[in-house]
Amino acid sequence: MRVDKRKVALVGCGLVGMSYAYCLLNQTVCDELVLIDVNKQRAMGEAMDLNHGLAFAASNMEIYQGDYKDCIDADLVVICAGVAQKPGESRLDLLKRNAEVFRSIIDPVTRSGFNGIFLVATNPVDVMTRITCALSGFNAGRVLGSGTALDTARLRYLLGQYLHVDPRNVHAYVMGEHGDSEFVPWSQAMVATRPILELCHKAPGEESISREKLSEIADQVRGAAYQIIDAKQATYYGIGMALTRITKAVLGDENSVLTVTAMLRGEYGQRDVFAGVPCVINGSGVRRVLELPLTEEEAKQFSASCQTLQESFEGVL
Ligand code: NAD
Repeated sequence: MRVDKRKVALVGCGLVGMSYAYCLLNQTVCDELVLIDVNKQRAMGEAMDLNHGLAFAASNMEIYQGDYKDCIDADLVVICAGVAQKPGESRLDLLKRNAEVFRSIIDPVTRSGFNGIFLVATNPVDVMTRITCALSGFNAGRVLGSGTALDTARLRYLLGQYLHVDPRNVHAYVMGEHGDSEFVPWSQAMVATRPILELCHKAPGEESISREKLSEIADQVRGAAYQIIDAKQATYYGIGMALTRITKAVLGDENSVLTVTAMLRGEYGQRDVFAGVPCVINGSGVRRVLELPLTEEEAKQFSASCQTLQESFEGVL
C-alpha cells in the first residue's frame, strides 16, 4: 500500500490558483493540497468551498489553508501569486513589484526545508521563473514555469479546428517568451507523422492548407490572452489545466514532453536564459531540454525572444 502522499502547496489563491486547485480535485492529481495566500481568510474560504465538493469527487483529498512551514514535505510548490498592473505602471515596475512578492514567498518556502520542485505561473512567467531559481538557490532543473504550455494548447486547438483533426494528434509547439515575442516553428509542426508544411502543397484529392491561414493562427495564439482579458478581465481555466498537466507529469514521473519555461545551458546556442522550450518532464523536474532542428529563420526568432527575456531579467535583480 502506498503511504507517501503526493502533496502540492499552492501559493496564491486567486483566479489562476483556484482554477488549478479545482482542476487538481476533479482530476484526482494529488492526495494533499495546502492553500497559502497573503490573504489568509480567502485561502480559508477557498479550502472550505473545495472541501464541500469532496463528497462528489472521484477520490479523497486533504485540502486545507496553511502556512509556508507546510511546504516542508511538499513534492511541488506552485506559485500563482502576483500583483496586478496599476494604471500607468510600466512593465518593468510591475516586474520589480512582483520580484518583491516572490522574495516574500521563496525565502520562507526554502526556510521550511522544502526539497521538491517549484512550478511558477505568475507573469511575466519566464522572468519570474528565473527569479525563483535565483532566490531559491535550487538546481535549475527543479525550477520550471508554465512557459508556452498554454500557448501550445491554444495552437493545437486552433490547428485541430482548421484541419478537422483531434488536437491531441496535432504535434506543434509555441516557443520562446510567453508573450509578444513567442513564435511557432512551423518546420517542426506535424499532424500525426505528416509535416504540416507538406500539407500546404495540395495533393490530388486533398484539401490545400494555406500558409497565410497558419500565420493567422499563430497571430491568434499570440493575441488570445488580450482577447480574453478584453472580454472577461482575466484568463484562468486554460492555465489551470496547463498547470495540472505539468503537475501530473511531475507527480507521475511521466517523462512527458511539454513546453515549459526552463533554463537553457547551451541548447539553441543560449546560456542561463529561461524560456519556453519543449522539455522532458518527470519527477526530477526538467529532465532535459529537447533541441529541435529549427530553420535559420526560426533560430533567429528564438534568439530574439531570448534577448527580450534576458533584458527583462537584467532590469529587475
Ligand atoms: P489574482 O489577483 O486573482 O490572484 C493573485 C493572488 O495572489 C491573490 O489571492 C493575492 O492575495 C495573492 N498574493 C498577492 N501577493 C501575495 C504574497 N506576497 N504572498 C502570497 N499571496 C499573494 O490574479 P490571477 O488572475 O489569479 O493571476 C495570477 C498570476 O497568474 C498573474 O501574474 C497572471 O498574470 C498570471 N497568469 C499567468 C498565465 C500563464 O500562462 N502563465 C495565465 C494567466 C494568468
